[in-house]
Amino acid sequence: MRDRRISAAAGRMLGLRKLRPGQREALRSLVKRRDALVVMPTGGGKSAVYQVAAAVLGGPAVVVSPLVSLQRDQAQGLRAAGVPAHTLNAATGAEDRARALAALGGDAVAFVFMAPEQLVRPDVRDVLRAAPPKLVAVDEAHCISAWGHSFRPDYLRLGAVIDALPRRPVVVALTATAAPPVRAEIVERLRLRDPVEIVRGFDRPELRLSVRAFHRAADQRAAVLAAARELDGPGIVYAATRKDTAWYAEQLESAGLYHAGLRRGERDRVQQEFMTGKTRIMVATTAFGMGIDKPDVRFVLHARVPDSLDSYYQEIGRAGRDGDPAETICFYRAEDLALPRFFTGGLPAADTLTAICDTVAQGPIGRRDLADRTGISPQRLTALLDLLQEAGAVRSHQRIEPAPDAPAPADAVEQALDLAERRRSVERTRIEMMRRYCELDDCRGRFLLRYFGEARDRPCGHCDICLHGRAEHHADNTAFPMGSRVRHREWGGGVIVGGADDRVTVLFDEAGYKELFVRAVLDRDLLARE
Ligand code: ADP
Ligand code: MG
Repeated sequence: MRDRRISAAAGRMLGLRKLRPGQREALRSLVKRRDALVVMPTGGGKSAVYQVAAAVLGGPAVVVSPLVSLQRDQAQGLRAAGVPAHTLNAATGAEDRARALAALGGDAVAFVFMAPEQLVRPDVRDVLRAAPPKLVAVDEAHCISAWGHSFRPDYLRLGAVIDALPRRPVVVALTATAAPPVRAEIVERLRLRDPVEIVRGFDRPELRLSVRAFHRAADQRAAVLAAARELDGPGIVYAATRKDTAWYAEQLESAGLYHAGLRRGERDRVQQEFMTGKTRIMVATTAFGMGIDKPDVRFVLHARVPDSLDSYYQEIGRAGRDGDPAETICFYRAEDLALPRFFTGGLPAADTLTAICDTVAQGPIGRRDLADRTGISPQRLTALLDLLQEAGAVRSHQRIEPAPDAPAPADAVEQALDLAERRRSVERTRIEMMRRYCELDDCRGRFLLRYFGEARDRPCGHCDICLHGRAEHHADNTAFPMGSRVRHREWGGGVIVGGADDRVTVLFDEAGYKELFVRAVLDRDLLARE
């Protein structure tokens, strides 16, 4: 019965003939009014989940999303299908605002897209209190996690806003970032209630995963060039620095060149030329790719190994969107993962944090003024404010001000330093996981899936190791199932994120990723199930 209503709504509203397994699973829970955390890769179809859910639940939905451009695209798509949809942001005119608020306060199915700060505006809050929506969808929910690279402190308020509503809506959080600590943070900070967690669709059988190892940088460079020239079709070469991108682009005549140092107009032009097929190869830093949806990218080469599997997966994921085979090759030199390269900045100094707290304590202050008064560069200031905000010392809306119930400045600074240190140690272990991936002599696809929390025991069949017939069949070990909580005597609490047969990989809350031998663990009773 419920299934039929779900399918009917998907067909009627979005014209979808068939839901994907992860979508169906999520919808079954949501229409029973149970919260959900939906983790699916980009392109996996996360929008349909909250859209169909709202249709079946039969009322207005708030959709929180970080970027005005994303909000606008989604709303336009729905309106084109005849579904009422509005956006609320700082630039929305009075008339449109009134229309959006009327839809939000009404009974009919309607979608109102907004950034988190809109939710605390008095006019929005009044409407929400008088008539709570049926559904709140938090898109790009990893923005709530200080772990990720797109932390948005505004997202931190969402849990409290939702809890304060007189009738609690169903809440669905959606993201493509599956690393277990990010998932845990989303659930905790949004205060999801007994949510189902659905992690689906990370396997991309059309991507051939390979790693080639080198000792000499010159050989590595030559191999990248040779591969880019030999492979067919449009492709992307990711290089580490602007200087490297320039070098590769020059060697590969007629390749496009993209990095964050280019002017906006220039970036748009090269991107357009790649999208339309005018240039075949794009040489780029990681700045290239957000929101790029070119279906026929046939290869992604990494001239230098990235600093985490999270970034790596996202970058290779831009190949083969049309479902046809694509090559992804990582050109690996162990030296490229040398730690100092990633940690030249060091930890923030206590004095610097104290100076920020002291200045903010004198009254609300804008970012620019705060930077001037403390002599900290705006970029560095943003990172430090994030830390202080997470430590509960300051809060930042239009201006920066002391948080209500802030701990004493000395305590806040200490907490912020702890956080910074913890994050750095986790960051190091992420690099170690990237290294492990490159040096594997066992199925890479399975390693990747397990890293993202999708269990599997068969080899993937589409990595270089599998294709050379070297991957072994590993059953997940039963002593420590994926996703279970454990406690280690020295390293404290953690989650099982991988491992096979003789090894188990644990992501510890404080100490980051560690790989342990099951035999030693069992013999010495190192891990207890929680
Ligand atoms: P995500 O937000 O997960 O990155 P989207 O929700 O933007 O992905 O969906 C990506 C594309 O997949 C859209 O073009 C959408 O229409 C399509 N899509 C979603 N669900 C289905 C489905 N069940 N069947 C076919 N196409 C689908
Ligand atoms: Mg999306």
